[in-house]
Amino acid sequence: MIDAGQVKDPKALERMLGELQSLRRRINSLEDTELEVMERLETAQTSLDQRTAELSAMEGEEALLRAAFEQKAGALQTQLSAVQDERQVTASGLPQDLLALYEKLRAQKNGVGAAALRRRECEGCRLTLNASDLGMIAKAPADEVIRCEECNRILVRVAESGL
Ligand SMILES: [Zn+2]
Repeated sequence: MIDAGQVKDPKALERMLGELQSLRRRINSLEDTELEVMERLETAQTSLDQRTAELSAMEGEEALLRAAFEQKAGALQTQLSAVQDERQVTASGLPQDLLALYEKLRAQKNGVGAAALRRRECEGCRLTLNASDLGMIAKAPADEVIRCEECNRILVRVAESGL
């Protein structure tokens, strides 16, 4: 018969209580560990969120810079094409020997074969021309090719030449 109200073996009861206490300690320890893991997970998640937001901001900035760059490059390409077209039209209207002289000087003079004569100064080499040279240039026919004495470039007479 089972006697519900009494313990027949006190040592067995002690053992059982001991196991119970040990299980409780184990549960507490596991609960502490779970809390630590959750805290670490939360910290990691916060850090991941920050990094994701930073990355997203940088990607947005990169897209803006790329779009600005492409727009600028497109505008420059259009400008370059227009200048090339204009140059071709201008070159086709020039006498062959003048064009050949210009190309030769351009190759020798860092890409600048002709310079404006502005305020009595050669814009190619910054030489200020003296009065007698200016006088000769002023008397020369409009279609005569004038060269700078200093840098040899073709001098282009303009409204502000000072002649
Ligand atoms: Zn010059």
